[in-house]
Amino acid sequence: MTLDFRSDTVTRPTSAMRSAMARAELGDDVFGDDPTVNRLQDHAAALFGMQAGLYFPTGTQSNLCALMSHCQRGEEVIVGQQAHTYKYEGGGGAVLGSIQPQPLNNRPDGTLDLAEVEGAIKPDDSHFAITRLIALENTIGGKVIARAYLADAVALARRRGLSIHLDGARIFNAAVKLGTPVKDLCAGFDTVSVCLSKGLGAPAGTVLVGKADVIDRARRVRKMVGGAMRQAGVVAAAGLHALEHHVERLAEDHANARRLAKGLEALGVACEPVQTNMVFAAFPKEVCKPLQEHLRSKDILCFIDPRTRLVTHLDLDAAGIDAFVAAVGAFLSQNARTASRAAVSGE
Ligand SMILES: *Cc1c(COP(=O)(O)O)cnc(C)c1O
Repeated sequence: MTLDFRSDTVTRPTSAMRSAMARAELGDDVFGDDPTVNRLQDHAAALFGMQAGLYFPTGTQSNLCALMSHCQRGEEVIVGQQAHTYKYEGGGGAVLGSIQPQPLNNRPDGTLDLAEVEGAIKPDDSHFAITRLIALENTIGGKVIARAYLADAVALARRRGLSIHLDGARIFNAAVKLGTPVKDLCAGFDTVSVCLSKGLGAPAGTVLVGKADVIDRARRVRKMVGGAMRQAGVVAAAGLHALEHHVERLAEDHANARRLAKGLEALGVACEPVQTNMVFAAFPKEVCKPLQEHLRSKDILCFIDPRTRLVTHLDLDAAGIDAFVAAVGAFLSQNARTASRAAVSGE
């Protein structure tokens, strides 16, 4: 069986998830008639203590519609340089929403300096775009942002009359790691975008939860960008199943990530401290390509870089982690033997 460490998006639906999909009651969701989509949206909203939820095909579209619901043309979002909404979504907010991003550097822990955020809020002056929104992300690069920081960010937004959006693609990884319900962790945010297709293991789908008026606007934008689906309940059933059955088990992914880092470190491969389901490991530049090919020959998929990201998920168990570590170990010792033979023979 292939072991895939490239992302937590690669999971296949479990058989229980597939039977939930097969059983799903369906309707036309553009008319608001799909009972499964409605149940998913209501369930997600309740989990987050929010007024409403809205189902999207992807997280990129959910973030885009959230941004476009908060900001009008010529308005501005303050966002991290490393944020998915800024860096990895094709500039959609700017291209399609005419929303100006004001990027700020993320600190090593993933947060933005809130004094810098406040300093970036534009005065009411015709030279400037109108600052409207702060967008944060949790987890970011596998790192958990603590509740106290989030509460301070929310307080800042309120004090300065801004809206605040959370890209919570992996918010359940943060919640499980902290042992804090998402309702408490995300309290005060106007909108939260939650991917069902990452660690939660659904084949597709994201739900945006938030205040009813913002979600109503997001529904209009979703239609405009082509994201309103018809009998979407067949996929939404997988998302609902994921929310009901795959949240607590994220702790296993976190434990497997720690096991992976420990195994690599025992081989002399330096790893950054693990917080959730991502391991960042350092490999010398010259071994990256041959190591990736060696692993490919063992049916292991990953992107090996000087700063390699390895992601654990539902379809990787402890035995899979051990197989990965063993394959890296075999490669490194083979490499060391080749290098020492080359040194002896003076090549
Ligand atoms: C995956 C991801 C998204 C959305 O991705 P899609 O592939 O469009 O579903 C948004 N934000 C973060 C942080 C992500 O990891």
